[in-house]
Amino acid sequence: MRLLSDFDGVWTHPREEARAQGAVLDGQLVAWMPEAQRAAAGELLAKARTEVRTAPERYGWAPGGRLSAFGDEDPFAEHSGLLYWLHLHAPSTPLAAAMADAVRAHGHESLESFGGWTHKEGVQQVEGARGPAILPAAADAGRALLGAGIEIVLVSNSGTDKLVRWFTHAGVPNTVHPERPAGALWLRGGARKFVLEAGASDPLSLGGLMIESRRPFYEEILREEQPQAVVGDVFSLDLALPLVLRRREPAWRDVRLFWLARDYASAMVRRQLETHAPEVEIVEDGLEGVAARLMRG
Ligand SMILES: [Mg+2]
Repeated sequence: MRLLSDFDGVWTHPREEARAQGAVLDGQLVAWMPEAQRAAAGELLAKARTEVRTAPERYGWAPGGRLSAFGDEDPFAEHSGLLYWLHLHAPSTPLAAAMADAVRAHGHESLESFGGWTHKEGVQQVEGARGPAILPAAADAGRALLGAGIEIVLVSNSGTDKLVRWFTHAGVPNTVHPERPAGALWLRGGARKFVLEAGASDPLSLGGLMIESRRPFYEEILREEQPQAVVGDVFSLDLALPLVLRRREPAWRDVRLFWLARDYASAMVRRQLETHAPEVEIVEDGLEGVAARLMRG
């Protein structure tokens, strides 16, 4: 049995990291404005955040201008949604345009790469103040799964260095792909699950909610790993493609799909999964809930 697992939100609760990222992001955007415009800039960002929360199906993580995850799927996604809002409103809102220009003037190639930078800053701040924070219950569940002979390959957009540091700190045996010792997590960072294939589209429709499944980097890893189970907290990034494979290809018919519904889980996604994706097991009790289900068989 091989479990393919996401990292952020499965082994961690990202609330603090996301809060720190939001403070860096909004603070920096406002600070780059001329003093006379800073109050208005702060108000515009607050308004944009409200719109992202109201329409997460429209504003989310959109690398290259295409929606890869909805704005309410985890605490980081709202920040990406905010940057996408600025991108979409820049042509009609001078202050949004001024902020987008300031991002580029300060050496960031795009709003997207600025978002990546704020993410890294936020995570670093929290890690520096508090240390790595793998949830103790998740670390226990991971050790129990490994002890039961279940293989775990960790496939994350986070960098491999961070994964090594955090799991080692939590006392969970780990090794970096392609090393494959038994009894250790196999870490594959920098997975780029969010990258969509240029010029191609094959959306999964769940009750009209359209989720792009052409994720070439993730697909390559999935096909190489051939897991019997997949777990993640962001349905679009982690589970949409495995669900498409399960529905279309006999070799994937029995793969178990676990969606970790954390306290921030998207209500919109949950509704559609409950109605239109009976294959997806909604897990309320974290990685320990997944471990219990897998070890029960
Ligand atoms: Mg995640």
